[in-house]
Amino acid sequence: IFISYLQNEKYEAISHVAASLAHEVRNPLTAVKGFLKLIRSSTLERGKMEQYIDISLMEIVRTESVLSDYLSITRPPSKQKDKTNLSQHVRVMIDVMSSYAIMSNVQLVLEQEPVAPVWIVANGEEVKQVLVNFMKNAIEACVEVPQAKVSLSLILADRHVLLVIKDNGVGMSADQINRLGSIYYSTKSSGTGLGLTYSFQIIRAMGGSIAVKSEPKAGTVFTISLPLQEYAPEPSVSQIW
Ligand code: ADP
Ligand code: MG
Repeated sequence: IFISYLQNEKYEAISHVAASLAHEVRNPLTAVKGFLKLIRSSTLERGKMEQYIDISLMEIVRTESVLSDYLSITRPPSKQKDKTNLSQHVRVMIDVMSSYAIMSNVQLVLEQEPVAPVWIVANGEEVKQVLVNFMKNAIEACVEVPQAKVSLSLILADRHVLLVIKDNGVGMSADQINRLGSIYYSTKSSGTGLGLTYSFQIIRAMGGSIAVKSEPKAGTVFTISLPLQEYAPEPSVSQIW
């Protein structure tokens, strides 16, 4: 009885994932199919045609990101961890996300960081994915907010480094805050609700913790605390002598 119960649970979990993935992928496929048919029927003026192609491309890009969200939660946190330069990851990922920020009319800045690089022990790919997830959410929270701004800071605190992601977007109620990290929890029409599930899992596996402060219509601050491996300032002149 116990075994069949477990198998049932597993089966239910798999069918749930399959159903929601199918839903996420079918919608953009249907849209792209429709646009291709329109383009084919081609009494279409050039401007319209280009517009349909652009929308189709956007749908495909979104589908790719949905698939990578799904793939990432099925992988357990990597055991492959090395000393890695968090300061550099933050800079690189701000660069990577800058076009998304510009498209969304959001200013994305590195507000504060220690003078020397901050090192942690982690899997670099996972760190980058977590950074993308938080930045993406912050940017998406800001659409339609005037003077939207997302800022990142790295702050040394004892044996930890704090990674702070702050936005002046829509914010969250206490109820919404409580649901953060639950699988499939999303308030967006095109969200998977997997980004934070994945990120919380990775941060926990890194021995880190997450704090959030948020207020509806004012904005949100996520503070991720990670064990510091090394902070290596350049020796100052007085130290050299
Ligand atoms: P998704 O982005 O696909 O909706 P996530 O797991 O990344 O899924 O986020 C889950 C939900 O948490 C979002 O839909 C949103 O409601 C809320 N959220 C996350 N970050 C923020 C933020 N910076 N500001 C406001 N709400 C947020
Ligand atoms: Mg997200």
